[in-house]
Amino acid sequence: MNLNSITFDNSYARLPKKFYANVNPTPVKNPNIIKLNTQLADNLGIKLNNIDLEKFFSGNSLLEGSQPIAMAYAGHQFGHWVPQLGDGRAVLLGEIIDTNGCRRDIQLKGCGPTPFSRMGDGRAWLGPILREYVLSEAMENMGVPTTRALSAISTGESVYREKEFPGAILTRVAFSHVRVGTFQYFSARQDLEGLKILADYVINRHYQNCVNDKNPYLSLLKEVIKRQALLVSKWMGIGFIHGVLNTDNTSIYGETIDYGPCAFMDEYSSNKVFSSIDQTGRYAYKNQPEIVKWNLACFASCLLPLIDENEKQAISLAQNVVDEFSDLYKSYWIKIFRNKLGLSKVYENDQKLIDNLLNLMETDQTDFTLTFRGLSTLANSNSLEFKKYFSNQNKINEWINNWRHRISQEGKEKKDIAKLINSINPSYIPRNHRIEEIIDKALEGDYSYFELLNKVLNKPYNDQNEYKNFQVPPDINQIVTQTFCGT
Ligand code: AMP
Ligand code: MG
Repeated sequence: MNLNSITFDNSYARLPKKFYANVNPTPVKNPNIIKLNTQLADNLGIKLNNIDLEKFFSGNSLLEGSQPIAMAYAGHQFGHWVPQLGDGRAVLLGEIIDTNGCRRDIQLKGCGPTPFSRMGDGRAWLGPILREYVLSEAMENMGVPTTRALSAISTGESVYREKEFPGAILTRVAFSHVRVGTFQYFSARQDLEGLKILADYVINRHYQNCVNDKNPYLSLLKEVIKRQALLVSKWMGIGFIHGVLNTDNTSIYGETIDYGPCAFMDEYSSNKVFSSIDQTGRYAYKNQPEIVKWNLACFASCLLPLIDENEKQAISLAQNVVDEFSDLYKSYWIKIFRNKLGLSKVYENDQKLIDNLLNLMETDQTDFTLTFRGLSTLANSNSLEFKKYFSNQNKINEWINNWRHRISQEGKEKKDIAKLINSINPSYIPRNHRIEEIIDKALEGDYSYFELLNKVLNKPYNDQNEYKNFQVPPDINQIVTQTFCGT
């Protein structure tokens, strides 16, 4: 046993007691490793054999130096204020410094009740754990900031939801688990001291560049806004719908967090919603930027007393920064979509060219991933495949002619245009029907589908000829129309 291969630090546990509850994971009956993310383990400098992994990442034993805590936070869920949420089924074991010198949170998810569990059992069933594993790692491989999955372990115990399911635990790794909701927790309690300690902690841990600014808290707001604008633009670029964009699921570091009912679109529909609990479409694909902005406005309002003693002045300063979100987001979005069309140069009509394609895609509900990826073949040849996606051949021909004219203005060889297109438009996404398939098979005890999907999604931008069937959208009887929080 190599206990010393992980050196924990517990900077969050050194904050005042009101930031968390000390709580140990609840041991489980029969932990079995389903998957260890060896790449990530190497990056974290973690070397444990399977027996140790099963012991420590199931919560059955505590690693030396770990001071487990459940973090306190609040949040707006679907716009409704909830003064206390907190880690109800997760425990932060501590932080480790990875091989790049970055501090990373190591958290167990599904490891038993905490003082924040309310009516919940603190557990998770196998389905959501495998889902989060596949989706979060796919996001990482697509270059989208995200929490990571280090391991998945089955518990040998049952979890009861609408029926009985096998339990599982995920080891989640994040640059930080501080959320907008963490700030709201202290703000709502008018705990200015707590707020300042939290803001200083976050600046010191993540935004050192703000330390010496004239107004570090205003700079913090700017930085978080920048990260979130970039994050949501990346989601839009790959057709990702988060599904529960509550303030407690909005990371201060700008990582994708909480893979509950999230999903990737197959056919393009800007109003697309998957989550069963999102009945009004609040978190629909196209609403995501506005919602993130709303969440950031909540963050800004928490920071007001730190930004300026004079409330009016603080509001005016913060409002200006929040207002910058829209232009910032737009600038990230258009850069991504230009690249998706193989364009790097900036021309005034680009927005129109992008919108025109999206409109045609929406009319025919073409597959978001295949359509954009198809542009790379089209750049090299007069591919008929691409045109087949569309019903109105006149319109798509006209669009293609405009696009060909526009790519000629890039002054690049066709193969380089195609290369750019392939570098930003994934060939493989974690399609919902594939996720369902791996969960169904895992429930029968067969993890080979889970393994294979992870393997294919390890290189989402590569053409992997032997796995072409993973590119294919669902058959009519495979379509997944709804996703669930799966708690
Ligand atoms: P989420 O929908 O995952 O963002 O969770 C919202 C809140 O519910 C958080 O405070 C979670 O910790 C809590 N929660 C979700 N599932 C459970 C569960 N099975 N047991 C206890 N608390 C839970
Ligand atoms: Mg959450």
